[in-house]
Amino acid sequence: MNEMTQRYTLAHGQALRRAEAPAREEVQLALLQDHLQQAGRMPFYAQRFKELGFRPEELRTLSELAGLPLTSRRDLDEGFASFSREEQSSFADIALTSGTTGEPVVVPYTDLDLQRLAYNEMMAFYGAGVRGGDRVLLTVTLDRCFIAGLAYYSGLVRLGATVIRSGAGQPARQWHLIKTLQPRFLVGVPTFLLNLAQWGAANGMHPRQAGITGIITIGEPTRRADFSLTPLGERLTESWGAPLCSSYGATELETAFGECAQRRGGHVHPELMLVEIIDEEGRLLPAGEPGEVVVTPLGVEGMPLVRFQTGDVARLHEAPCPCGWQTPRLGPIEGRLAQRLKYRGTTLYPEMIFHALQEIHAVQAAYVEVRAGFDLADEVTVVVGGEVRPAQVLDLLQAKLRVRPALVIKSHQEVVMAMEQGGGHKPRKFFDYR
Ligand SMILES: [Zn+2]
Repeated sequence: MNEMTQRYTLAHGQALRRAEAPAREEVQLALLQDHLQQAGRMPFYAQRFKELGFRPEELRTLSELAGLPLTSRRDLDEGFASFSREEQSSFADIALTSGTTGEPVVVPYTDLDLQRLAYNEMMAFYGAGVRGGDRVLLTVTLDRCFIAGLAYYSGLVRLGATVIRSGAGQPARQWHLIKTLQPRFLVGVPTFLLNLAQWGAANGMHPRQAGITGIITIGEPTRRADFSLTPLGERLTESWGAPLCSSYGATELETAFGECAQRRGGHVHPELMLVEIIDEEGRLLPAGEPGEVVVTPLGVEGMPLVRFQTGDVARLHEAPCPCGWQTPRLGPIEGRLAQRLKYRGTTLYPEMIFHALQEIHAVQAAYVEVRAGFDLADEVTVVVGGEVRPAQVLDLLQAKLRVRPALVIKSHQEVVMAMEQGGGHKPRKFFDYR
């Protein structure tokens, strides 16, 4: 066991999260120096550092990080990662994630990167209340070059929990596992877990009596910026009779944020990441202000990133958490930067429209179209599938978001077909014609 893996223990993790800021920052500074040296071995960063006259070993404070250039998803698409043969032979796993061009981006993980990821998830699950010996139904796939399922699995194993790797799909089989193996926690995508509860209720299974004491969600937002549950989050917790903790991560980051049992944003893992929130001009924003989430993961070997722009909008909360961990928390994702709409003088994200629409049960599917309008404003059309009265939808959007966009109502079938055109692995909910 090297120095790094010794640090990846529950006891170390707990101590660092409970430590005051100066002690944490001292650890982070040393890790950032190492991380930047590792990044500087990649031609992409070597070139950038050289142009700046920056030498990682001369970094003296954490705040100097803000002086380094940002790394965008476009950078990753444009041949960012050219690895030597020797480097390639150290890869233990190759994950794929969708790039901005539609071509998948390769994200290599070394053995140490996988251990680091397992530690990340161990701490996140611990924070969410999972303990050694707890049984967890994992409805996230481990294959198809996805990293999230593997990360959850290895984190739970590291924590000493028992994983039931059910994967997605087949509600009857999932329910058979719930009945026979009696997991205490469910891990999965919110809409999938809600459908599972509804299928169970319709087939005499009584989800609220199934013994589930906690839900960990991935992928879709279940909370608003003020930490209140979205209608989807509410229906999910009500249907299982169990609270939920949401998680957020990205394959490129090799890092994920998990909500603790206080459910007030995802804790920053101090030894695994540094988080900044920036405005449109790239300036740092203070805690509590929404902006683009920029992450510098620490301790990554395979593809170390510096100031990676996630494209997601959220805010950072710095007040100490009642759980006892002193680390900042990343609030719920409020939208994708690329999907930001300028509508009648306000900023709007499609996600906010979808959250509002969840309150009308008759809305079975919906997407948003945007076109360039006059005066740099966007023309927004909401397309809704289901037996819905237009006035009901427009009044709801007016009440929740103070907007009345154009509205088109179609059959559920038509909307689903439009969303599935293009054959991506997720249905499309946002069509940008600007
Ligand atoms: Zn907490």
